Amino acid sequence: MIGLSAFAILLFAGSLWAQAAKERSEIDPQYKWKLEDIYPTVESWNSAFAALEAATPRLEAFKGRLSESPALLLQCLELNDSLSSLSHRLRVYANLKLDEDKRVGASQELADRILSLGSRVSSAGSFIDPELLTIDSTKIQEFLRTTPKLQVYRFYLENLLRTKAHVLSDKEEDILAKAGPVTNSFINTFNIIDNGDISFGTIKDEKGNDLQLTKGRTSVIMRGPDRRMRRDAFYEFNKTYWKYINGLAANLAASVNKDYFLAQVRSYPTCLDWSLDGYNVPTSVFRNIIAAANANLAPLHKWASIRKRILGLDTLRSYDLYAPLGTDVPKTYTWEEAKQIVAAGLTPMGKTYSTDLQMGMNSGWIDVYESRGKESGGYNWGTYTSHPYILLNYNGSLEEVFTLAHEIGHALHAHYQKQREPYIYYGSYMFTAEVASTCNEALLMKHMLAKSKDKKEKVLILKRYIEQIIGTFYTQLWYSEFELAIHEQVEKGGALSVDFFRKSFRDIYQKYWGPELVLDTNNELGGMRVYHFYRPYYVYQYALGYAAAQVVSQRILNKEKGALEAYQQFLYTGSSDYPIDILKEAGVDVTTPEPVARTIKLFGELVDEMEKLLNEK
Ligand SMILES: [Zn+2]
Repeated sequence: MIGLSAFAILLFAGSLWAQAAKERSEIDPQYKWKLEDIYPTVESWNSAFAALEAATPRLEAFKGRLSESPALLLQCLELNDSLSSLSHRLRVYANLKLDEDKRVGASQELADRILSLGSRVSSAGSFIDPELLTIDSTKIQEFLRTTPKLQVYRFYLENLLRTKAHVLSDKEEDILAKAGPVTNSFINTFNIIDNGDISFGTIKDEKGNDLQLTKGRTSVIMRGPDRRMRRDAFYEFNKTYWKYINGLAANLAASVNKDYFLAQVRSYPTCLDWSLDGYNVPTSVFRNIIAAANANLAPLHKWASIRKRILGLDTLRSYDLYAPLGTDVPKTYTWEEAKQIVAAGLTPMGKTYSTDLQMGMNSGWIDVYESRGKESGGYNWGTYTSHPYILLNYNGSLEEVFTLAHEIGHALHAHYQKQREPYIYYGSYMFTAEVASTCNEALLMKHMLAKSKDKKEKVLILKRYIEQIIGTFYTQLWYSEFELAIHEQVEKGGALSVDFFRKSFRDIYQKYWGPELVLDTNNELGGMRVYHFYRPYYVYQYALGYAAAQVVSQRILNKEKGALEAYQQFLYTGSSDYPIDILKEAGVDVTTPEPVARTIKLFGELVDEMEKLLNEK
C-alpha cells in the first residue's frame, strides 16, 4: 500500500499555561462526541478484539500461493482489508476514548492492547506486496482480465507493477532490508538530539521572572508583542543549537548521502527522481513550482517592508516576522456563532455540502470543549465503518472558528470518500489531504473579509491569511529549494560541510524574504534543525496542496463553469488514482505553473488590501 496520510492532523495548541477548568462529567452531552456509535460498550470492543485476534492467523494460509489463481489472490486481499479495517476501527475507538481523558488507565490499556495486535495484523499481511512483485506482470494482467471482482484492486496492483523496474533481486532486497536499521538511523539520531539531549535555557518574561524556554513556548513568544522577549528567546534558542551544530551537520550530511545511496541502488538518476516516483510525480512538477515562486517573490518582499514600517522598526529581524501588528484585538465567538459563521462561509459549496455540514456539526461528531485530561489541539479522525470524529478545544478565538472549518473539511472529505471508495483506497495522499480543509478555510476567510464591518477583525483575518500563505506555501518552497541544493551537492560529488549548509540556507532565506530582512548567523542554523529535511522532498507537497486549494476556492467563488462539480468529485475520491490525476479531476493542473502563480497573485492582492486598510485612518 502507498504511504497515506491518516485523517489525523494534529494542530499546535496555542495556550501553554492555561489549565482546564471542568471535569468531563460536568460538560453537557450535546457538546461531546458519541463514541458509542463505534462500539456501544467496552464489552463490544472486547468481543471485536477477540474476533480480530482469532482471524489474523488466517492470512498465513495464503503465503507463497498468490500466483496460484485469481480467486485465491482476491480472497487474500479481501481478508487483509477486512482485518486491517477492523484493526483500525478498534484503534480509533481506543485512542479517541483515551483522548477524552488521558488520566484514565483503562483507556490507556485498550490503546496499548490494540497497538500490539494491530502490529501483528500488519506484520501478518506484510508478505503480500513483496510476493506480488515476484509474480510475472503478464500473469497479474491476465488475472485482472479474467476476474471482474479483482478490478477493485486494479490501481493498487498496477501501481505496484509500475515500481517493478526499481525492485532488485531477492538477495539484494534482503540486504537492503537488513540495512534498514542503519538507513533509518539518521532520523532517529536527529530526534534523540532534538527532543532528548537538547534543553534550552531561560529568558526573562514580561515581569522579569525566569521563563524556561521550550520549542512550544518559543513559537508562542515569536507571535507575541514583546520585542525584547522575542529577541531574547531567539538568541537563547539558537545558542543551544550552536552547541550541537557539528554533530547535527554531520548527521544531516550522512542522511543525504544515504538518500543518494538508495536512489542509486534503485537505479534512479537523482534523489529527486527517487523521491517523487513514490507518488508517480514527474520531477518537472517540482522544478516548475520552484521556478514559478522564484519568478515572483516581490509580494513577499513587499510584505516584509510593510511589516517593518507598521512595527516602526529600524531593522526588520527574523523574530519580527510573526509579531502582532498592534491592531490585533482578540474578538470572541460563541460556539453557536462559530457554527453559523462556518455554515455561512461554506454556502458556495452547494446544498448537499451545506446539509451534510449541519449534520456533521450537530450529530455527535464533535467533542467541543476543553476538560481536564483531554488531548490538546484539534484533529479529525475516524474509521471506514463509522462517522468521522473531531476533537476541538473550543475557546472562542478566531483561530478556533477556523479550526472548525478546517477539521470539518477533513471530516466531510472522509465522509464522502467512504460512500464511493473501497477500503483499500480510503484515506488521502499527503498531497491531497489538506485540499478539503484549506479550501474551506479559504472560503471562510473570503466570506469574513467581505462581510466584516470591523476594521480590526479584518486586519486580523488578512494577517491570518497572509501568514498562512507564508507558512504553508512560501516557507515550504524555500525549504524544498534547500533540499534540492543539498542533494544536488552530493550528486555532483561535493561535500556537505557546516559551512555549506549555513550558506545555502541563508542565501535562500534572504532571497525569499528580500533585502528588508536583516539576517544574522543564527538564521543560518535552520537547515540543520528542521526534522523534515530527514524526509527528502516531502514538504513541497504542502505547498502544492495549498496552491491547489486556493485555485479550487477561487474557481468556486467565481462560479466558473463545472468548478463545483469537479471539486465534489474530488471529495468522493481517496487514493484510487495518482495524486496529480486526482487534482486534475478537481480542476487543478499542478503540472502547469498556474496554481503557484495564482497563489502568489492572491498573496499580492491580500498584501495590497492590508496596506490599504492599515493606511486608512
Ligand atoms: Zn489538516
